[in-house]
Amino acid sequence: MDLGIKGKRALVCASSKGLGKGCAEALAEAGVELVLNARGSEALEATAAELRARFGVTVVAVAADITTEDGRARVLEAAGQVDILVTNAGGPPPGLWSDWSRDDFIKALDANMLTPIALMQALLPGMMERGWGRVVNITSQAVKAPNAVLGLSNAARTGLTGFVAGTSRQVAGTGVTINNLLPGIHATDRADSLDHGVAAKEGISLDEARKRRFATIPAGRYGTAAEFGATCAFLCSQHAGFIVGQNVLLDGGGVNATI
Ligand code: NAP
Repeated sequence: MDLGIKGKRALVCASSKGLGKGCAEALAEAGVELVLNARGSEALEATAAELRARFGVTVVAVAADITTEDGRARVLEAAGQVDILVTNAGGPPPGLWSDWSRDDFIKALDANMLTPIALMQALLPGMMERGWGRVVNITSQAVKAPNAVLGLSNAARTGLTGFVAGTSRQVAGTGVTINNLLPGIHATDRADSLDHGVAAKEGISLDEARKRRFATIPAGRYGTAAEFGATCAFLCSQHAGFIVGQNVLLDGGGVNATI
């Protein structure tokens, strides 16, 4: 399917690896020019070079922490006029509801709620003026079904979801859509580190920890970054102009709910 977005320009945050990279790859395949970001420059430059070589698109790489004001300023300056924004950042650490201090909450809110909001505030006006734009926020399955050990994530991402629910409807009339993608477990470094944590805590092997987690997913496996990226690219396509303020769950059936 031709997604109809060849030549558009996208900023994909936190995209040297994992789900962000999956989104960048699918957009590059659709002919979209890219601005990529991550903190570490080595993996970022490698991803940028790989996408240039595979898809022949322009790729600008900005090494910066997207959760800081200074990092965002540098990324936005390099990005310039952007038609597509994919927000993403690392997720907060696991723990128990009784563990976290005010500082822990502020850090999680900064990374997973206020950073995507600041990026939207910076880029939505240009999209609205030009009469076309797409925003996809990478959030989490935790928005639909709270994860007991990821309370910081449950809280911050639900706050972002409320902001998007209201804002998406205020900008839709200008040709700009905002939607959220909710990953269940996907095979990335983040899933690896959570599995290592469970293995260490329960005194079991990494394989056993994964097997137990596969058993909680009706699809019987983890999702892939490529599947996730393809869904993101569709939400950024011309065909998705009537999809507004939605929360699209990619979880292999993991959340047991009728709607
Ligand atoms: P990942 O494999 O750990 O990849 C994270 C990517 O983001 C890397 O490129 C990393 O590069 C970059 N990054 C992290 N923090 C950053 C920051 N502050 N500024 C700029 N770049 C940053 O993670 P993932 O699995 O793709 O997950 C992406 C998001 O989805 C996370 O918020 C995660 O919590 C959420 N999620 C993931 C899953 C899953 O199963 N994978 C499930 C639910 C929710 P650098 O380290 O070099 O910065």
